[in-house]
Amino acid sequence: MIDLAVRHFALPLRHPFTISRGTVAVQDTVIVQLGEQGCHGYGEATTNPYYGATVESLARQISAVAPLLRRCSTDDLEGLLDGLTAELGEDMFARCALDMAAHDLWGKRLGRPVHGLWGLDPAAGPLSNYTIGIDTPERMVAKLAEVPGWPIYKIKLGTDRDLEIVRELRRHTDRPFRVDANCGWTVRQAIDYSGPLADLGVEFIEQPLAADDPGMAEVRRHSALPVFADESCAVEGDVETCAGRFHGINIKLVKCGGLAPARRMIARARELGLRVMCGCMTESTVGISALAQIVPQLDHVDMDGAALLAADIAVGVVVEDGRRRYPDRPGTGVELLDGPLPGA
Ligand code: MG
Repeated sequence: MIDLAVRHFALPLRHPFTISRGTVAVQDTVIVQLGEQGCHGYGEATTNPYYGATVESLARQISAVAPLLRRCSTDDLEGLLDGLTAELGEDMFARCALDMAAHDLWGKRLGRPVHGLWGLDPAAGPLSNYTIGIDTPERMVAKLAEVPGWPIYKIKLGTDRDLEIVRELRRHTDRPFRVDANCGWTVRQAIDYSGPLADLGVEFIEQPLAADDPGMAEVRRHSALPVFADESCAVEGDVETCAGRFHGINIKLVKCGGLAPARRMIARARELGLRVMCGCMTESTVGISALAQIVPQLDHVDMDGAALLAADIAVGVVVEDGRRRYPDRPGTGVELLDGPLPGA
């Protein structure tokens, strides 16, 4: 028997965060708590207008599975996750929050970190980048100067001065860059920018074109840099369609429904010869700690979500200057700063 509690938190960002689609100053997030025999597991889904996930839709969908949860146990994690999938269908954000919480609870009840239960070495896997949101070149340089210790910077592009931005940032650091146009470019721009960006020390381009743009195969053929799918690779079924159009995929737990589907996507991407990255959606330490469990399996990771916040709501895996520090606690290692949520 698993008890459910759900709560909305507003996460203030250190800086308003702008990508090609818009700006966010406070990130709304929904935290799920699953309780079983005195243990509490935590999961998270941030809201996202692009994917139609609101506080209200998430809270409603998640609350609707309370009767199912009361009939389930993490003793049968797979059965629990299958039941949630059957109940929630395509609501990936709600599935993600519940999947994370179920894995955290599973690990806590067994007294082991989730990565350990999967046989993964937490010391393995890539360092994280730090993301610089769109702004004037001067303010983007100032943001970079605030966080000089990160090993890689991901630069959000999709403006009318993209090359100028990267040239200006390059004058202030010699660390590798990756860029993310968030669907903001045309085929011509993507191909034309790729050479100068390669010369500027950019290692790959994330999502140059709109999610379903048929020009992607042409970009992949002619780009001087590898191209990674993000908006084009939301759910498990998308991995297949990215082969031949991209060199790699960027999996996000909220988009695909959590850790279990993400692990299946990693396995399928490997079979297809795709490189694998995971990203985040400005989650708190709750979501970032869940993501940290699969990082040993990745080629690249963008897990700066909690580092972009002015105030966090939980303790767990800490990401500092790109390095992960796992707490000596079971599950995903998450505890809410204010203690467990009042039960439902
Ligand atoms: Mg992206």
